Order: sequence, then structure tokens, then C-alpha cells
Amino acid sequence: MSRHQNLQRLGTEAWDVLIIGGGINGAGVARDLAMRSAHIPGGLRIALVEKRYFSSGTSGRNSQLIHGGLRYLKYGDFGLVKEALHERATLLNIAPSLVRPLEFLIPCYGRYDKLFYGAGLTLYDALAGSRGITPHRTISSDQATKLEPGMDSNGLRGGVLFHDAAVHSARLVLENLLDAEARGVCLANYTEVHRTATGLEARDVLTGNTFPIRARRIIDATGSWSQAAPLRLVRGSHLIFPRIQQGTEAIAHFDEAGRIVFLIPWGENDDLTLVGTTDVDHQAGADQVAISAAETDYLRSIVRRLYPDFREDPITSYSSLRPLIVQSGRSATSTSREHKIWQSTDGLLHIAGGKYTTYRAMSEEAADALMPDLAPGRTIPSETATTPLPIPALATTTGARVRVAVEREHACCLPDLLYTSTYWGHERKLAADWLTPLAQQMADLLGHNQAWIDQQLRALGV
Ligand SMILES: Cc1cc2nc3c(=O)[nH]c(=O)nc-3n(C[C@H](O)[C@H](O)[C@H](O)COP(=O)(O)OP(=O)(O)OC[C@H]3O[C@@H](n4cnc5c(N)ncnc54)[C@H](O)[C@@H]3O)c2cc1C
Repeated sequence: MSRHQNLQRLGTEAWDVLIIGGGINGAGVARDLAMRSAHIPGGLRIALVEKRYFSSGTSGRNSQLIHGGLRYLKYGDFGLVKEALHERATLLNIAPSLVRPLEFLIPCYGRYDKLFYGAGLTLYDALAGSRGITPHRTISSDQATKLEPGMDSNGLRGGVLFHDAAVHSARLVLENLLDAEARGVCLANYTEVHRTATGLEARDVLTGNTFPIRARRIIDATGSWSQAAPLRLVRGSHLIFPRIQQGTEAIAHFDEAGRIVFLIPWGENDDLTLVGTTDVDHQAGADQVAISAAETDYLRSIVRRLYPDFREDPITSYSSLRPLIVQSGRSATSTSREHKIWQSTDGLLHIAGGKYTTYRAMSEEAADALMPDLAPGRTIPSETATTPLPIPALATTTGARVRVAVEREHACCLPDLLYTSTYWGHERKLAADWLTPLAQQMADLLGHNQAWIDQQLRALGV
């Protein structure tokens, strides 16, 4: 179905469930409900709307890790870590081409670091249980230097190696959405939905057209944009550098305050390093998110601390918001990443907080909460933990990637291609020489003219 057809359906059909928000939580609930729908006579009519491109919120601009969250052990969040480690194993199983094991090195400079992090990782391994990847091990300073010859060896007392997993987080959202669509869910990007005094109103962001939507149940998966609860918006930023580390492992560095910062091998050509993240209370609105000078200085200082001879400037940066459940007395870093799923008095089901890693379990819980209403008297369990995501191999040429983005993945503007179907927009500085041919090919496929191409480039500041 084309976007145009989907918008027509949105406005004319009566939906059993409308999901607002095309991040990982919206996508996860859509897929879960679509699978259960197959067991309901007549099925469920499910639609999902996203006001920008899919995964354009936090879900495509995070640290790209599927992890237990080593740092949460410090705050005693053992349940959260255990659940995340369990989900890590599940995602490695159901989406192995997008979620891959990644080795981390914690460089140890303090006298007791090896002991301290070794103990933490013993607990981490125990919480992962039989679903762990490979148990951690400690290494000497010589071994650490051999792995990372460019790393500051002054005062280095050794290291600890452990495993977590890396993900292409925007694509995993997309693949959840596309599988949900294959199971009957109606998807519409660039469609903003708001409640009005009389019901729900949708606005096609690309044309400005508005129309009413009828839905029996509504799921608010709008993350940082949710109005439903007092959320604490905490900004996290990343810098992307030419490759810093020599080895294939990521570096997990604990700064002087005990905050963890990752240097993650990155990029389609494996020639970049993603450095992040920060934790800063965000004062501006959810639509105005950008790295500050102080965050840039902080992340650069970590790189200088670990790799004193590395001189290159960052290529790009990205930032996003953590919508955390408010906890009084906690700092931005220590506020819990626990999630919350609740129904408000107006009947909306809200899904907020949590981690990307636990999206599948959160989605299952949200779908469970709706099932008594959607299929009264029936028990239809979730199947998402055991049903692999059908993920095709990536096309090998640029032209084929653009075509797939437009024809399969709902790309209708240049950012859809640059930040969801691919991460090319994060991986290189935006410039007319390489963006113009991409915009030209998209325009040809979508039937747009030169004015559209100019507008797309202008919107990206090129
Ligand atoms: C810097 C940073 C790094 C992180 N790193 C990790 C990590 O490595 N691993 C991990 O497990 N977790 C990580 N997290 C947490 C994780 O990324 C988030 O918990 C998760 O992505 C939240 O997903 P979401 O779907 O709730 O929100 P979002 O991805 O923000 O999606 C909400 C969507 O709703 C849309 N929307 C809003 N209002 C409307 C409307 N009215 N109509 C239509 N659409 C609307 C928005 O455009 C947006 O796309 C990180 C978080 C941050 C901030």
C-alpha cells in the first residue's frame, strides 16, 4: 500500500487499535498485536502513525547497544539488569543480523579497578545465567596495550573484557514495523495525531491536510513527547569520529565521577567510532535537541584521556532524549531506567521509560494489558520472543539501497533514507556532492520535481 492509500484508510476505517509513535516501543507493540490478531476471528484492525520519519526520536539516536546496563548495578537495579540481559539473549536469537555480540574492554587505571569491575561483571554474568554470551575475563596491562596500542599506557594496570551486543537501532525499529505491516498493520509516517475535544485528529505533515480518526483503543508510544505523566527529559549526545581504537572491541570507560562512556567501533565500513553518551537535564522542547558545547568538550576530553595522540575532529554528532519516570532526589545519571505501562482515565494506554533493550518485553506487557478488551474471554499469548524477524540482506549498491528505502521501507523524504534505512547522514558530513544524487534518485522514484530536491537539501542545511 502506498502512503497515500494508507492515509485514506486511516481516515475512513474504524480501528481497533491506534498506536501513536513510530519508535521502538510503538513498533514493538504493533508487531506483538499483529501476531495475536491472527488468532482472533476477523482479526484486529491496527494502525500506527509517526509524526516524522520512523525511528526519528530516541530509538534511532541512542548508543546502539543491546545490553544489560552494567552501570545500573551501581544503583542496585538488579531486576532491570537481569531482564535486559534476558532480552539481550532473545534479540540475539530473533534478529541476529541486526543484533550482534560485541566485546568491550574496560581499561583499568585505578589500583582496585580490576577487582571492582571484575566483581561487578561476575554479578553481571551471574544475572545473565545460561543465556549469557561469553563470561568476562581480566587481562594484564601488557595484554591491554597489545589490544589497544594507541591507548594511554601511563598508569594502566590492566583491563577487563566482557561481552554485550550492538544493534542498528533504527533498522530494528523499521524491521519490526515492516513485519507488523506484513501482518496487516496500516503504517503512516509524517502523520501527527492529537486528541481534540471531540476525538482524534490526524495531520498529514507533508501536505497540512487534517482528518479525524476513529479508534477503539489508543496506545501512546510518543516517548519524550508524551503529555501523560511528569517525565524527566534527560539529553544524551554522541560524537562520531574517524576510527579511534585499533582493535575490534568497544571501550567502556568509567570517568572520575563513575559515569560510563563508550567508544564503539561503528559505521558501514567499520572505520568510525561512536563516542557517548552524556546525561544532561534537557530544558528545551522535545523537538529541539542538539549537543551543547559542554557535552562536546566532555566527550572530547574522554577521547583525549584515553587516546592522547588521537588528534582528529568529530565528523558529526547526534543527540536524543531519555523520557525517564521522575524520581525525586536522583540525578540525571542515577534516575532509574525502569519502564511504566498504565491506562489513564481517558482510556489511553501509555508506555514510557525503560530501555531500548527491553522493548520486546515492554511491548508484550502493553499488548497483554489490551487483550482483555480486544479479545474478551480469550488468552492469546505473545509470540514475539520466539518468532524471528524476517530481515532481508542489505542491497549491495547505493542505487539499490535507495530503491529499497523508497519501495519497501516507506522512505518519502531524504532523512528517512539517511537516518533510518541507513546511517549515512551520521557517518559523513552532509554535503551537496553526495546528497544531490540520492535526492535525485528519490525524486525520480517518488515522482517529485527539482523544487522538491532543492527543498530536501535546504531542510538539511546543504
Ligand atoms: C542518548 C541515549 C542513548 C541510549 N542508549 C541506549 C542503548 O544503547 N541501549 C538501550 O537499551 N537503551 C538506550 N537508550 C534508551 C532507549 O533508546 C529509549 O528508551 C527508547 O528508544 C525509547 O523508545 P520510544 O519508542 O519510547 O521513544 P521514541 O523513539 O522517542 O519514539 C517516540 C516517537 O513518537 C513520535 N511522536 C511523538 N508525538 C507524536 C504524535 N503526536 N503523533 C505521531 N507521532 C508522534 C516521535 O516522533 C517519535 O518518533 C538510550 C537513550 C538515550 C537518550
